[in-house]
Amino acid sequence: MITNERNVLSISGGKDSTAMLLLAIERGTENMSAVFADTGNEHEHTYDYVRYLEMATGIPIQWVRADFKDRIARKREYVLTKWAEKGVPQKHIDRAAAALVPTGNPFLDLCIWKGRFPSTVAAFCSEELKRNPIINQVQNPILDSGDDVISWQGVRRDESLRRRFLSERELKSTHKNGAELWNYRPIIDWTADDCFAMHKKHGIKHNPLYEMGMGRVGCMPCINCRKDELLEISKRFPEVIDRIRQWEDVVKQASKLLGATFFASTGVSLEFAATQTIDTVVEWAQTGRGGHTFDMFRMQNDGPVCSSIYGLCE
Ligand code: SF4
Repeated sequence: MITNERNVLSISGGKDSTAMLLLAIERGTENMSAVFADTGNEHEHTYDYVRYLEMATGIPIQWVRADFKDRIARKREYVLTKWAEKGVPQKHIDRAAAALVPTGNPFLDLCIWKGRFPSTVAAFCSEELKRNPIINQVQNPILDSGDDVISWQGVRRDESLRRRFLSERELKSTHKNGAELWNYRPIIDWTADDCFAMHKKHGIKHNPLYEMGMGRVGCMPCINCRKDELLEISKRFPEVIDRIRQWEDVVKQASKLLGATFFASTGVSLEFAATQTIDTVVEWAQTGRGGHTFDMFRMQNDGPVCSSIYGLCE
């Protein structure tokens, strides 16, 4: 059987994946397509930017979204049939079951299904909202057809420790029909400046969020956003904070312990953690470093960046 290679580029709307797309165009890459996984938690500037990128480069960008309808329905069934056996009071069962309703927003529905927000320790968001939809909706159909997939990922070694040791190219898996899925990271040794220079070389604008105090482009906010980024978000985009406040209320209702906050705090009691709402974290972001009770949060300016090795979150 003759197999073709299909180059699938994951686009996030950030500088790295844009630079990677421009590199692929520059090389005259054939059989190329691009995909953007919409988490439902992106800023409107990012959505506009992805549309602009498609128009400016002429490369179609397919949008994919995760769907949690079935999983929420199964969880609701589980809550209604099993929680009582586990000693959960009926009023909490009724409350959670009533909240287990899909909204159509992938990020929010993921959290409703899980009864919690993702955290650095339980970082299920990138996988559920970006990696899996791209695999299921784009890569697997290609592999099913017998073609190989070269998955282009815009990760750079200097971004994080986990990314430092990634190889440029590796065989990820072999499909049941023999088709192969390869990871390819062509800008692995580039710097952030190299990525911006690539934009300039091709006359492509960068995502305007970089000029608005955002160090990375991805979810707004990302669970890994820095203290100064959150402060900037709260000042420039108060509607984002309003939305997260509403989401905290919804997810809290779907949780077993009536507690779910967007930014997880670690090493503290459940009671204390439940008080760390988006508003208290924004309040903390307005303080200088140190001298405040929220210092126990891991979200410091020199804290961890998204450690996803897929390059789907910048
Ligand atoms: S950008 Fe951040 S919050 Fe969004 S999926 Fe990636 S790690 Fe999770």
